[in-house]
Amino acid sequence: MPITKSQIIDQLRTVNDPELHRDLVTLNMVKHVAVCDGHVTVAIELTTPACPLKDQIAQEVEAAVRSLGDEIQKVEIEWSARPQPPQHPHAHADQNESPQAQARQNNPLPGVKHMIAVGAGKGGVGKSTVAVNLAIALARAGHAVGLLDGDIYGPSIPTLLGLHDHQIQGTNELFYPFNVHGIKSMTIGKIVDPDNALIWRGPMAHGAFQQLATKTDWGDLDYLIIDLPPGTGDVPLTLAQMLPLTGAVIVCTPQKVAQDDARRAVRMFEKLDVPLLGIIENMSYFIGDDDKEYDIFGRGGAAQLAEFLNLPLLGTIPIHMELRANGDAGDPTQNFEGNPTLADELNTLAQTVERVISQHEVAGEARQPTLNIS
Ligand code: ADP
Repeated sequence: MPITKSQIIDQLRTVNDPELHRDLVTLNMVKHVAVCDGHVTVAIELTTPACPLKDQIAQEVEAAVRSLGDEIQKVEIEWSARPQPPQHPHAHADQNESPQAQARQNNPLPGVKHMIAVGAGKGGVGKSTVAVNLAIALARAGHAVGLLDGDIYGPSIPTLLGLHDHQIQGTNELFYPFNVHGIKSMTIGKIVDPDNALIWRGPMAHGAFQQLATKTDWGDLDYLIIDLPPGTGDVPLTLAQMLPLTGAVIVCTPQKVAQDDARRAVRMFEKLDVPLLGIIENMSYFIGDDDKEYDIFGRGGAAQLAEFLNLPLLGTIPIHMELRANGDAGDPTQNFEGNPTLADELNTLAQTVERVISQHEVAGEARQPTLNIS
């Protein structure tokens, strides 16, 4: 029996992207497969034309296809690169296989205008802190805002929002979100014991996140901010397949090791077809009692990364003791009412995020077809 296209696609499912540890088919990098008389052609789309991992991918693709048997005489790879910078969601509306195209067709939250993912390459960089304060800043600017704690392995939203004394409520079908600090929020940390969440494996994490997002009574929102787990695991993939995202922001600290992780997170969103809104540098520097600024982690790292990736730097947040203390106390409103400098920084960040979203919208609309009436 001649080897079929679907056998080859199944083989390609065994080849992982070396950076993201997910297979090429899931990442939507395989654009075309053809087989004729033992000659196989595979078209692969990279995120950048000069992908340093191209040779490794080529070897692994060839080995995977050849493992189908001696019938395979030749494996040819056609390379292409995704257009840069990453495009607005509407630009890919005709590619039904893209995770975001699927999500746009079956949007489970049509009442939400903008869904924004907050990601980070690794834990502890202040991703949840940024997500919480971005949500509250947008709400204080007059928007209807929700915050979804997608960090289902280590939810910190119950602490950061001070939800300890709140009980989850709802109907048979829907959870009611918690209404605190001017925003609606939902977190797995109030539904299951967080210690159990830590040991969830892929499919369980997928299901839990999906239900948390879609079984919450969000109502109409201007913004839904989604705090993702750090790194490049299952939740971002589920998210990209399920919700049509306006875009993702990446939080990183200035040091070199954090940049490497952040770059991986950026690549993941590019591969999932999620527009990148920009980078936020957190713990940028520290202002001492002597009013001097100390660059503890080597300030400016995120700016360099943003420039390298051709993305906007959306803002820099210094180390503030209040930010940590108000986070521990579950009182983020105090970040906006206790220290005018901190409030300014957080409000400016939210305004920049809003501005970049509008720019993406305008760029997206410009790429949509228009009617010519003469
Ligand atoms: P992540 O979500 O990336 O794991 P968190 O938001 O939970 O990180 O932050 C980790 C810790 O660092 C928390 O205690 C938080 O209060 C603190 N933190 C985050 N950003 C700052 C900052 N700019 N200044 C002071 N403390 C911060």
